[in-house]
Amino acid sequence: MDTHREELVNDILRNKLSPTDTFSFSCRECGACCRNRATPVMLTGLDIYRIAKGLSIDPYEVLTRYTTGYLGQDSHAPVVVLRERLDGSCSLLRKGKCTVHSCKPIACAVHPIGRVIDLTQKKSIYIRQPGGYKGAVDGRTWTLDEWLDTWNLKELDAPSLAWNLMAGMVAEVMHPIKLEHIGRDVIWELYQHMYGDYDVHRDFIPQVEENSETLRQFFKSHKMLK
Ligand code: SF4
Repeated sequence: MDTHREELVNDILRNKLSPTDTFSFSCRECGACCRNRATPVMLTGLDIYRIAKGLSIDPYEVLTRYTTGYLGQDSHAPVVVLRERLDGSCSLLRKGKCTVHSCKPIACAVHPIGRVIDLTQKKSIYIRQPGGYKGAVDGRTWTLDEWLDTWNLKELDAPSLAWNLMAGMVAEVMHPIKLEHIGRDVIWELYQHMYGDYDVHRDFIPQVEENSETLRQFFKSHKMLK
């Protein structure tokens, strides 16, 4: 493991929350966490699917209207983030309120804590984000378990893991390829199957499995995967 990754893992383990660990937070609905964020909110295919379902629109419409993207510096795979307006506010914020409150991206729902997916152990890890809070940091005391129940986040663990396993497989193939050698056709293929090709009238997990298989076949046919 290189030094950077080792530091990252140590940081996660140091800040890891157990189900009964507590933190204090009350949302004042001030919208502060939706404006001028230090880093944009990163989205998964599950976030796009849930927002599309919540707004009764196609996932590609969500991608076009509310997101932007780039190739990950480490994964060399497409990364999709929430688009910000010129004033630094999230494109889904209207009059200080989140327009997708009940289906907001998981990274927004877990705020003020953070979540990482452990692909080896196939589970979510929740972490304290010291200094990462913006807005209210006082208020009611929550256990991690209570907070996750408030947002039904435990139900999203399985579909999140399914998507992250696909993203991990893609990163494994793409990471060794130099960024300048990655063609538009490859980027488009990955973008579609990771983020856009989902039918909101069907369950998410079987569609991730189909998209993973399509990408595996794509990598094989392009001799990117043995
Ligand atoms: S999706 Fe909603 S909660 Fe998340 S940054 Fe945008 S407005 Fe805020």
